[in-house]
Amino acid sequence: MSTAQSVKRKRIDNNLTLIHFQNYPLSTNLGAAYLAYGLDKARIPFRLKIFGQYGFRINLGNIYRFFADSGKIIAVGCMSHMLPYVIAGLERLKRAFPDKIVILGGIGPTEVAEDIIREFPFIDFVIKGCGIEPLPQLVGMLLKGENTFHSIGGLVYRNGSGIISNNRHKTSSRAILNAVAAFHLVPGATQCRYFDLFTSAGCCYQCTFCQSPVVGGRDIVFRDIDRVIDELRLIIKMKGNKRFGFFLTDESFVVNRKRVYAFCRALRQNRLNIPWSCYGRVDRMDEGLLRTLAENGCQELLYGCESGSERVLKKIKKGFSVADMMKVVVLSKKYVKVIASFICLYPFETKEDFLETLSCIVYLETKGIRVQLHPLAPIKNSLLFQEYKKSLFLTSKVKSTFHPLINRVPVQCRRLVKRYPDIFYFYYSYRPKDFEAITRLLPEALKINYYDASRVEL
Ligand code: SF4
Repeated sequence: MSTAQSVKRKRIDNNLTLIHFQNYPLSTNLGAAYLAYGLDKARIPFRLKIFGQYGFRINLGNIYRFFADSGKIIAVGCMSHMLPYVIAGLERLKRAFPDKIVILGGIGPTEVAEDIIREFPFIDFVIKGCGIEPLPQLVGMLLKGENTFHSIGGLVYRNGSGIISNNRHKTSSRAILNAVAAFHLVPGATQCRYFDLFTSAGCCYQCTFCQSPVVGGRDIVFRDIDRVIDELRLIIKMKGNKRFGFFLTDESFVVNRKRVYAFCRALRQNRLNIPWSCYGRVDRMDEGLLRTLAENGCQELLYGCESGSERVLKKIKKGFSVADMMKVVVLSKKYVKVIASFICLYPFETKEDFLETLSCIVYLETKGIRVQLHPLAPIKNSLLFQEYKKSLFLTSKVKSTFHPLINRVPVQCRRLVKRYPDIFYFYYSYRPKDFEAITRLLPEALKINYYDASRVEL
């Protein structure tokens, strides 16, 4: 590279800083790896930083300093539970650097994009949904001083006449299917022991607490399995001879048995002897499938059991019975390690329902199965949220799986959560009529393990 080129590159590099904001150390973020792919493909130089990767304490001073070390354009992605921290940090950033252009994206901002643009003038753009195509388009325009933003799918922004919310383009939602996650461009990725990958997106089930049936319909879209193999090869190249594992994040991996077999065949044919884990689904499993998974490197299955109460399973439209669930979860343990995940504090859950869940948990633990119990997190766009959002309230009695108790959250973030319940709904809890009785039992029940990737043995 000539000196002139390198000077130019340095100047442009300083223009875009891409930040993924998380509250756990050392995990590759799949979203960041796909955005890095999109920017790299569009030849837009950028610097990627991951907050949380180095175990920073999450306080506003640290967040501000992390954000302030950025280029002229700062694009931040986060999940719902990190949104108050990100917004509070960006407000302080923009006060100190009014000329910086602030872009938000990711799962958290997507659901409340228009509200964010309406309430927080220091946020310039929100990208809804997959950013692989829209982010390079937007940054390209900003660098060239253009403003034909109406052509960018999923972009929400202000113009003189109000808030503009562009429809998402079908092609850009599907761009991720053919992309290859650029893990090599994610800082710290070589230190990761586990990588998230996916072979398909979408779900054909209709659980009422989940947004999948409302947002994605019942369609499942499939990636070319070769793309997943390309990603594994890239990780192998990056990690050298250090061992690693991967987790398939597909909600519906085991739903299409032919694809499971094709994926296992591809692993064998490419001699990819790597431990992996995935979601199971109790009404799709049998001994044949379990054996195939185990013989092809699958070491752990995670089952969304959701409740030990027949009544609750029916109400959430889970589509299987408690008896079937228990049978399959225990059977699976013959072949692989198993995690059974349960949820409590549904808005209609009674103390009796909760005790039934606890008795399933105790039984499964006696069978050597790892169990998780999560208080139900409100999910915007879910049918359950639409029906029960009036019962949501802020409480410091419920320990969330995702974020600290509300009274431990920095005061600026707490103020945001209280003032904008529609944006920061994720910090709120449903209030079943037996709330007090259930929460009296919770402290003991919650000693049951939460998911902790660092405990997974390779
Ligand atoms: S909870 Fe899982 S199975 Fe149910 S609709 Fe959502 S993704 Fe599908």
